[in-house]
Amino acid sequence: MTDQEISQAAKQFIDSGIQLDTIYEPIGCMFSLRASDVGPFIRDSDAFFAYECGLSKAEYVEWKIFMASGRTCSATSLRGPCRRPARDSQSLSPQEYTRRAKERTLLCSLHMKNYSGRPVRESD
Ligand SMILES: [Zn+2]
Repeated sequence: MTDQEISQAAKQFIDSGIQLDTIYEPIGCMFSLRASDVGPFIRDSDAFFAYECGLSKAEYVEWKIFMASGRTCSATSLRGPCRRPARDSQSLSPQEYTRRAKERTLLCSLHMKNYSGRPVRESD
């Protein structure tokens, strides 16, 4: 099936009152697909959501992994990587995650106190 055929079939569903909802991972909210979204979504849902967020697929996937793996602080101490959750990260959007990752501010409260714009290397 081509994207155009998929889009036409999806449009028929939508016109008949059949909704094309999908789960927006990992937040878990529902997302309604437009007929033209179905082909790109089936082909690569991460690339689809990345495009919707205005991010690269790599940035979007990094955000998913961060959210699914405990949102850990990015600081490293002498004892290894910090395992505390990054401050204010519970409902971090993909865009906000990408901005903070570039700023290197995905830090726990303890390491945020020491943040001065350079990599954190203090021991706990
Ligand atoms: Zn930390």
